[in-house]
Order: sequence, then structure tokens, then C-alpha cells
Amino acid sequence: MIEACDVLVIGGGATGGGTALDLALRGLRVALVERRDLTDGTSGRYHGLLHSGGRYSVRDPESARECIEENRLLRRIVPHAIEDTGGFFIVTPDDDPSYADRWVVASRECDIEVEEITVAQALKEEPALNPLIARAFRVPDAACDSFDVLSALAAAIEGLGGTVLTYHEVVGLAADGDRVTGARVRDARTGEEQPIAARMVVNAAGPWAGQIAAMAGCPVIVRPSKGTMVAMAYRFVNTIINRCHPPGDGDILVPVGTVAVIGTTSVSVPDPNENGVEAWEIQRMLDEGEKMVPGFSQVRALRAWAGVRPLYEEGASVEGREAKRTFAALDHAERDGVAGLVTVVGGKFTTYRLMAERTADIVCANLGVAAPCRTREFVLPDVRVPLSPPQLHWPGHRLEDVEESRQRDPLICECELVTQSQLEEAARQHIDVTAPWVLDDLRRDLRLGMGPCQGGFCNVRAAGILHARGHISAAQATLDIQDFAERRWKGQRPLLWGQGLRQALLDEHIYRSVLGLDRLEPAQNMSDVSVLG
Ligand SMILES: Cc1cc2nc3c(=O)[nH]c(=O)nc-3n(C[C@H](O)[C@H](O)[C@H](O)COP(=O)(O)OP(=O)(O)OC[C@H]3O[C@@H](n4cnc5c(N)ncnc54)[C@H](O)[C@@H]3O)c2cc1C
Repeated sequence: MIEACDVLVIGGGATGGGTALDLALRGLRVALVERRDLTDGTSGRYHGLLHSGGRYSVRDPESARECIEENRLLRRIVPHAIEDTGGFFIVTPDDDPSYADRWVVASRECDIEVEEITVAQALKEEPALNPLIARAFRVPDAACDSFDVLSALAAAIEGLGGTVLTYHEVVGLAADGDRVTGARVRDARTGEEQPIAARMVVNAAGPWAGQIAAMAGCPVIVRPSKGTMVAMAYRFVNTIINRCHPPGDGDILVPVGTVAVIGTTSVSVPDPNENGVEAWEIQRMLDEGEKMVPGFSQVRALRAWAGVRPLYEEGASVEGREAKRTFAALDHAERDGVAGLVTVVGGKFTTYRLMAERTADIVCANLGVAAPCRTREFVLPDVRVPLSPPQLHWPGHRLEDVEESRQRDPLICECELVTQSQLEEAARQHIDVTAPWVLDDLRRDLRLGMGPCQGGFCNVRAAGILHARGHISAAQATLDIQDFAERRWKGQRPLLWGQGLRQALLDEHIYRSVLGLDRLEPAQNMSDVSVLG
């Protein structure tokens, strides 16, 4: 039986997590429900850029202003999730040179600090850049780890007495006449359904927000826009690189941990679950990457994945790059005559806190709560597994740590240098080990399986350790290994050439010939994989 709460928030992405925290800080009893793990939606599939706003300053200045203001705020309230890489906007030989001056004026009007630097200076800082660039500008972009942000939000919500329920899917809303009074949730582990009563419900289901609103009979037309990204096996740059031109495909390169991620495309899709990667998207990323970093396409591509943007403009029907990146918080009492329900949709990861504030304001107005928003000052807790990253990522830092503790702490994942003690610590502290797909959850905490071998070696080792330590049964270990292998394979499949192809064949050999994984009987459902101990 799940306890009744003041506000039930649906969706464990940045927007839902941010909204639940805002409401908890105003003294309300909140419950956050997510059908899978936190960040399983767009927030865990995004490009990782804490926008300065420069990308939007010419076409969408409202979004640009929101981004720069929140960029400054997030650096204060969640510093441990942000790597202050800085960003460059560069004019390559393929870009219209007249755009740069317009862009500088527009960006400064949006209060974005833009500093022109010489090409020689840009190349000194980032020697891999195309030497033929005509101009370079410095902006306050940064890299932001969404897994760390959501872990911090969840810890803060729970610290304030709120509830965070992962692997609970909302399958229907409860109503009393024209008032939403809660939801029915299904536990993914047991299939059991139960009600959660709430005085208000917030729909923060991102690209799926239209489906939740429809459960209350409210029409919310979200325009899902798929974007594909490719992680290259090398951190070419330490600065975020943007092309100085109107937003297009494959024109941003973000250093993320040991790799660099290029993105994205923008393809309107009819269904938010449509996140398959197509061959032309990969080719486009490699071709565009060459324009920023010569030789880019010759480097090994590690994996490709796509996220789906929850684009929304009230009353408008624009799609893809034409759509604004601002957001809407919809009070369905005013809009549709359905009380007790608020939908928040659109926006950017960078603006999640602002979206949460506006949404919480509406909820509080409905509940007669006068407490003000506190998220501008509230510093989020740092709950990461200790991986001791420095302020600026240096690919060798984990190796240095491992060398210091050599002999005592075996490596589980050689690519990302994850040790056994880190794995065990994550399993003890951060993971709901009763959840299905625990290895994929561990990946988000540790980067387990995210390097060149894509889980080929660490998958089985990690499952073995979790089983030996009594966290998971043998049946669940089998299911987890299969699930993790399939997920890693999904990202490798579009990139089957060169070293990546060799790796995929080796992984397949290990899984099929050595382990016979395809011949093992998988558990029938999650109730067969009850947790030991
Ligand atoms: C390719 C791409 C690149 C991007 N890059 C950037 C970037 O670099 N910087 C930036 O600031 N923004 C970026 N964005 C935008 C940003 O990622 C999104 O705007 C943001 O993550 C949306 O967060 P959200 O919480 O609203 O949605 P989501 O993160 O999708 O969260 C919604 C959650 O609701 C859950 N859910 C759905 N239905 C149910 C249900 N029935 N019951 C329970 N839970 C449910 C889902 O599982 C999901 O976890 C990018 C987007 C894309 C697609």
C-alpha cells in the first residue's frame, strides 16, 4: 500500500525530479513515480550540454535567456554534476561568414558573455580543431551529467521525507467527477497494480506527456522530435565545440568523460518510443564532425543512440528545428475544466529548475500554499559513488586512482576503470537491487560497460559479483546479463565497421559460444527472480 500524498509527480526525468524537489522544499508531501529507472527517458539520452543559450540567441531569444540564467544558477546548486569545459562557437569554411556578427549581437542582447578569441588561440587550446576556421568565440557552455543531477534530486527529495518510486508505471488516473485524485501504478517487478491518492497530480512525462494527459481526457499535443548522437572513442576536445551557424545536424561536439559525443539530428516521429538510429544519421554525424575536427570520421565510433525531444507550443503546430525550445506549464483546471492536474512539457534539460518552479507555483496556488520557491538557493547533495573526478575531466584520473590501490581492488571494467569496490559500493548505496535491469542502472552510476568493449567483459563479472554478494539471484543475473548485452548491442549495431565490428564479433562469441547465453532459459517474469538475502 503506497501512502497518500499531497502531490504525485509522474516522470523521473529532470523536469519531474526538479518539480518534486521544489514542492518538497515548500513543505508538501510528494511522491515521484517513474516507470523505469530515473533518467530512462530523454534526460538520460541527451547531449550533455549545459547551454549558454548561444545556440538559440538568433531564432529563439526567450529560450536563450532562460538557458543562460539557469546555466549560472545550476553551476551554484549542482556543481558536482557540471564540468566547466567552456564552449567555443567556430566559423568553419562551410558556414556563412555573415552569420557570426548577427549571432554576436543577438547573444549579447540575451546577456550571454561572448568573447572573440584569435584562431591561433582557439587552436592552441584545442589543437584538434579544423585549422581553416575563420573565427572563434568563447561562451559559458559546460558539460552536465544528467545521471548525477537526478541522483542528487532523488536524494534531496527523500531527505525531505518524499518518496521516489522507480519501476512504477502510471497506467491510469483516478478521478472524482472533473477532479483528478491520484493514479493507478503498476509495479514492473511484480505486475501488481495499486492506487496512489493525491491532492494534485503533476504530469512531467516528457515526450509521453500527451499520453498521461489523455488519461484525464485533456488534449496535449506533444511533437516528438528524435535526435541521434554518436559517441566517439576519444576525447578530441576539452571544450564544447558549436558551429556558428543556424542550428543544424551534427554541429555540436561535447566532451563527456573519456569520450566525445557528436549530435544531433532532428527528425519528427509519430511516437515517442520511436528512437531507432538510421544509417544516414550516422553518416551525417561523421561528415559534420569532419568539418570541426579533421580526421574525425576515421576515429572509432563507439555507439549511437537517440533521444526524443518533447517539443510543445500551445496552439502552434510547428515541428523539429522550427519549434521553440521554451516550455509550457498547463493548469488543466483553467485550460480544460479538469481540476487536480498540471502538465509541464517542452524546455531543455538546462531549464529544468525553472520549469519546476513555474509548475510548483501553479500547484501551490491550487492548494492554497504560500511557501515560496527555494530551489534557487538549495544546493543539491553530492551522492555519487566516489570516483574522485577532478573538476575538469582528465582521461587518466581513474587510472591514477587504480594504480594507487593496485593489488587490493580488482578492475571489473577495464575500459572505464571501474573497480570491484566501486561496484559493491554502488550496489550497496545507490541501487534498488530488487529492480530489474540492475546492470543498466549500475552503468548510469559508474559508466560500467560504456567504453570500447561495450560490456563484453564487465557484464558477466559484475553480475557474478552481485550474485556472490547476495544482491541478485542466479535467475536475475541471467536476465540482467541478457538485457545488458542487448542494450549495448542496440547502440553498437548501427556502427559495424572497423574496430567496432571486430569488438561486436568478439562480444558475440563470448556471449554465444563461451556462455551459451542465447540458449539459457530466461526468467519468465520478474517474480521468478526474487532477490536473495
Ligand atoms: C537528442 C537530444 C539532445 C538534447 N540535448 C540537450 C542538451 O545538450 N542540453 C539540454 O539542456 N537539453 C537537451 N535536450 C533536451 C532535454 O534532454 C529534454 O528537454 C529534457 O531531458 C526533458 O526532460 P523531461 O524530464 O521533461 O522528460 P524525460 O527525461 O523524458 O522524463 C519523462 C519520464 O517520464 C517517464 N514516464 C513516461 N510515461 C510514464 C508513465 N506512464 N508512468 C511513469 N513514468 C512515465 C519516462 O520513462 C521518462 O523517464 C536534448 C534532447 C534530445 C532529444
